[in-house]
Amino acid sequence: TIRAPESKQTTTLQVAVRCRPLTPAERSRYREVIRIENDKVVVVSDSDGSRKQEKRYTFDYALGPEYKNQDIYNRVVAPMIQGVCQGLNATVFAYGATGSGKTYTMAGRPDDPGLMVLSLQEIFRCVSKEEKDHKYEVTCSYLEVYNEVIYDLLDKSSGHLELREDPEQGIVVAGLRRVQVNSTAKILELLHVGNSRRKTEKTDANAISSRSHAVLEIMVKKFYRNHHGSQVLQGKMALVDLAGSERASETNNVGRKLRDGANINKSLLALANCINALGKQQKKGLAYVPYRNSKLTRILKDGLSGNSRTCMIATVSFADHQYHHTMNTLKYANRAK
Ligand code: ADP
Ligand code: MG
Repeated sequence: TIRAPESKQTTTLQVAVRCRPLTPAERSRYREVIRIENDKVVVVSDSDGSRKQEKRYTFDYALGPEYKNQDIYNRVVAPMIQGVCQGLNATVFAYGATGSGKTYTMAGRPDDPGLMVLSLQEIFRCVSKEEKDHKYEVTCSYLEVYNEVIYDLLDKSSGHLELREDPEQGIVVAGLRRVQVNSTAKILELLHVGNSRRKTEKTDANAISSRSHAVLEIMVKKFYRNHHGSQVLQGKMALVDLAGSERASETNNVGRKLRDGANINKSLLALANCINALGKQQKKGLAYVPYRNSKLTRILKDGLSGNSRTCMIATVSFADHQYHHTMNTLKYANRAK
């Protein structure tokens, strides 16, 4: 039997805003329209440069460009890891417009590894002490949801994958590859290969826009014995690099790309609605959370319900040409908390 530790039944939701540094090219061309002040994001001017009354948004964390992925990890994600090793579920996702730093935050680079890498490393440290009364097994899967279809990023030969209700496991992706990883080098390779298979598209915004949601799931099983016999404690952590939150209409796409956009909005919208509901639940007690409306929210359900911990990292840029995206992201993140 798989057991989850019993405790409170509401999900903890935290909201962090991360503002990426301007690139050297951007620095010479763009003005900064926001400023970070402790846990606040301050909007200092409009996109056209007109001054206005400063507007302040307060979050659990507001993290400026001086923060590396490791700092974000230490503050926001590290406190979740112990729970995952003891049978709790957790979800961390990056939400923001294309180019705002989602992939940098989640996957990172060799010189600044992202939250996916750092989380796995810490989980390995956490479970590496094998005791004689229990043992651990850590496995990973990496999938993408594109156009409301699920693909396995770790198995090129697999086609469309379907969701299935399993009486013991809940909602599972049938046929999804799970791998046992045991070293940092393996993790990096796995993410690199997986990410190179993600579907990307040139858009009119002239950026490589990631049109898919990528979900890394780390499953930690703890096997032990007590007076009932053999037991398994299972914790899952989902780390999600969402598709760009900008609207399809804003990038002026047509045809297939437009349909992609519509579907991305379906999963994103469904997630947004779930997050809003979780925010309400946290403030006012129980509220219905509509998980069933998209593939993404069904996949993430376990990590967004029960006694899970969820963290949204909303990514933004200082630059004035991103003003509208930034405002949309801040308003959305502000509603969620
Ligand atoms: P997204 O995945 O949201 O579309 P990316 O993560 O690809 O955006 O980031 C866009 C660009 O900005 C990339 O060139 C990336 O290397 C850079 N970048 C993003 N965040 C940071 C950061 N915190 N520090 C340095 N460079 C960053
Ligand atoms: Mg990206």
